[in-house]
Amino acid sequence: MTNTLTGSCLCGQVAFTIDGGLEMAGHCHCSMCRRWHGAPCGSYAKVIDPASFKFTAGQDQYKIYASSEKGRRGFCGNCGSSLTGEEDGRVTWITLTAIHGDPGVQPMAHIYVGSKASWETINDGLPQFEEYPQ
Ligand SMILES: [Zn+2]
Ligand SMILES: [Zn+2]
Repeated sequence: MTNTLTGSCLCGQVAFTIDGGLEMAGHCHCSMCRRWHGAPCGSYAKVIDPASFKFTAGQDQYKIYASSEKGRRGFCGNCGSSLTGEEDGRVTWITLTAIHGDPGVQPMAHIYVGSKASWETINDGLPQFEEYPQ
């Protein structure tokens, strides 16, 4: 895949590009993702080449929230949009919601369904996993 993906936050101050494509897209229903996204789930994909993630605007507005010992969540400090997951200082996960247009991947599964919100019904037919699939 050689297409360059572009993405941004809601206010547009933080913008980025990714080369090399995405993989392993899915919906996470854990309580942290739900609160972070303000939604029934967070939808993410893995960045195949983390070194290809580049800011094109607003890196100074890009903030990190450490939601757990290893979990690093990047967001826009101005509008609050959920943007990335980082590991070892590199962007390894991207929220599908931040990508402009077709991200080139389709969600394959729902994870952490065991802790989903009681008011959410999942009925799209994708596989559902109680936690993270091993
Ligand atoms: Zn923003
Ligand atoms: Zn989650």
